[in-house]
Amino acid sequence: MKQISDAKRIVVKVGTSTLTHGTGMLNIRRISSLVRMLADIKNSGKEVVLVSSGAIGVGMGKLGLSRRPEDTPGKQACAAVGQCELMYVYDKEFSEYNHTVSQVLLTRDVIEDPQRKENVQNSFERLLQMGVVPVVNENDTVSVEEIEFGDNDTLSAIVARLVHADLLIILTDIEGLYDKDPRKYADAHLIPRVEAIDENIRSAAGDRGTSLGTGGMATKISAAQMATAAGISVVIANGSRHNVLYDLMEGKPVGTIFAGLEDKNGGKEEDR
Ligand code: GLU
Repeated sequence: MKQISDAKRIVVKVGTSTLTHGTGMLNIRRISSLVRMLADIKNSGKEVVLVSSGAIGVGMGKLGLSRRPEDTPGKQACAAVGQCELMYVYDKEFSEYNHTVSQVLLTRDVIEDPQRKENVQNSFERLLQMGVVPVVNENDTVSVEEIEFGDNDTLSAIVARLVHADLLIILTDIEGLYDKDPRKYADAHLIPRVEAIDENIRSAAGDRGTSLGTGGMATKISAAQMATAAGISVVIANGSRHNVLYDLMEGKPVGTIFAGLEDKNGGKEEDR
């Protein structure tokens, strides 16, 4: 069985709660530390794709809005402002380590059209060959349904499949998947490894309604299911944990690991 540390092509997804303070303003220390680790992982010979949320949240912060707009044009406007700020910061931070970033904004219709999907795959492939770090988000400013129903956990699994990644790391605001909600039950235990995503795992994650308060675990589990079905291992871990990516790449027990890597060449080739 291959180990997490053997993964060559890695997709890292980072959520709004990891990237911003409660005020909606950027968490600069968190972003700097994330970029430093990603740049170093890249220096070690691995390929990195970053799926970053935060456009709407950062846009709100920058526009001085105290509440998330409820109407679609309001969210679209925030995303347009915030995406720009996010890319500015990623460009600046990665440049510190001599790495080049690129912006890739996707909508569901692109992925559903075989020709457009292939175009995106070719573009990812070329960017990675060129040593560039693609920074991916939904194109929230034009994508109405994406804003209403989309989530970047699903997007990260789609991207992991598009680029034929070996590993998807979903960074969130709790340690990983617990057997019950750790914010309600003091005796909740972290599940270190999941071999198969079954009913027990889905119910540990809670349903969409209750899971929103626990870092949206339900969408992370369905993302894990999509990725592992294509033989891609998935880790859900705490983005605020010191050196989280270094520890993972060194094979330390961090977060919840969903097996997938060992199956990569084992015939689970659907939609890869
Ligand atoms: N695309 C959204 C944003 O950048 C985030 C969606 C999500 O966090 O799932 O604000």
